[in-house]
Amino acid sequence: MELQFLGTGAGMPSKIRNTTSIILNLSAEEHGYWMFDCGEATQHQMLHTTLKPRKVSKLFVTHLHGDHLFGIPGFIGSRSFLGGDSPLDIYGPVGIEEWILTTLRITKTHLTYKLRIHEIEEGIVFEDDEFIITARLLSHVIPSFGFRIVQKPLPGKLLIEKAIAAGVPKGPILQRLKNGEDIVLEDGRIITSTSVIGEPKQGFILTILGDTSSCDASVQLSQNADLVVHEATFDNETGQLASDFGHSTIQQAAEIVKEAGAKALVATHISSRFLPSDIEAFRKEGEAVLPKVFVAHDFAQYKLVNGEVVESSFKK
Ligand SMILES: [Zn+2]
Ligand SMILES: [Zn+2]
Repeated sequence: MELQFLGTGAGMPSKIRNTTSIILNLSAEEHGYWMFDCGEATQHQMLHTTLKPRKVSKLFVTHLHGDHLFGIPGFIGSRSFLGGDSPLDIYGPVGIEEWILTTLRITKTHLTYKLRIHEIEEGIVFEDDEFIITARLLSHVIPSFGFRIVQKPLPGKLLIEKAIAAGVPKGPILQRLKNGEDIVLEDGRIITSTSVIGEPKQGFILTILGDTSSCDASVQLSQNADLVVHEATFDNETGQLASDFGHSTIQQAAEIVKEAGAKALVATHISSRFLPSDIEAFRKEGEAVLPKVFVAHDFAQYKLVNGEVVESSFKK
């Protein structure tokens, strides 16, 4: 998995930060992309990357503030123009369906694919064989969700060399062992599936939170996560604004991640008052609490390498 930030600003776009949007790139897991929030001009940001709108199969909207969803009509319209024909599932708070369908109706926008809108409540919002996604309400001025994305443990690989060394002939019998079946060889020996299957591999835990001040739900969603994306609109000096408007400082975000026993914080939703030259001092306020703190910028990319978060950039 890779997390790719298309917008990392708060409230309004600035020259250096667009409004919020994050792509969870699951191409390696054959799930396409899952988008989290779609601020205005998210599709413009995508044009600077190799990401393809038609590959977005799910969009999770944390809350109904404009800086998190004004990009949806343009994005879903272009996804249609660009040949998207697979369904798009949109998950978000009550009101998201009326807003999207009204916009499509009034602008006479016709999509070439099926749009499925799910108005969500707290609890499990999606589950398949590989992933389970849980939503909780956070603490903001309007209902704002956070998401915990858990990849289930991956089954161990068949140790082909070991099976062959034990006398298992090549061919379909290997597949039976892989499927968990024990087999009897011609000489009467029994080969158990568990003896030739490697250890199951732990999946990742990723937490992506909408706008919020510090709250218990954030800690619960972030429990033991490999990476937590938490808003950090303000710094310590402007902390009063954070509590007045349902936002967080970077130090508060780091405290949540620490309390949850999670490994790393990626801070986003950064106020435009902070210039590029301020960011290192800003990051250090988080680092005073937690060893691994990243401040996302537009087009920053994060992946897990042996369980450690590694940052790179993916622009152009
Ligand atoms: Zn916001
Ligand atoms: Zn908000």
